[in-house]
Amino acid sequence: MPIDATRPYDDENIFARILRGEIPSKTVYEDDHVLAFRDINPLAPTHILVIPKGRYVSWDDFSERGSADEIAALVKAVGKIARDEGLVEPGYRVLANVGMNSGQEVPHLHVHIFGGKPLGPMLAR
Ligand code: AMP
Repeated sequence: MPIDATRPYDDENIFARILRGEIPSKTVYEDDHVLAFRDINPLAPTHILVIPKGRYVSWDDFSERGSADEIAALVKAVGKIARDEGLVEPGYRVLANVGMNSGQEVPHLHVHIFGGKPLGPMLAR
């Protein structure tokens, strides 16, 4: 069920629970502002989710309220993780769903990194 990205942050969402250590995840990267872990239902050989540690519902919320340090950390982390996973030379895709038309399911901003095979067209026609 897609979420309404204009709603207030819900501290019980699954990524908030991962950040609190209540649910395990396969961590691939962590710093003061960012956590990244493997998607539980991967859609590509490499499928990683990169999230801010702060309470942000979506890219919209983060771009409006996130600090310059938080935003820089997330962008830098996505690039570093992709390099560390060996994705730059073969290529990869970065995607963030925002709200209902996108199908965003978890109401905590997450950037998907997909790679490890040709990823096909950007969107189904
Ligand atoms: P989105 O549709 O953009 O909101 O993506 C949500 C993603 O979170 C999906 O790809 C799910 O497979 C993934 N996901 C949901 N629960 C977990 C979890 N506990 N650990 C890792 N990934 C998860």
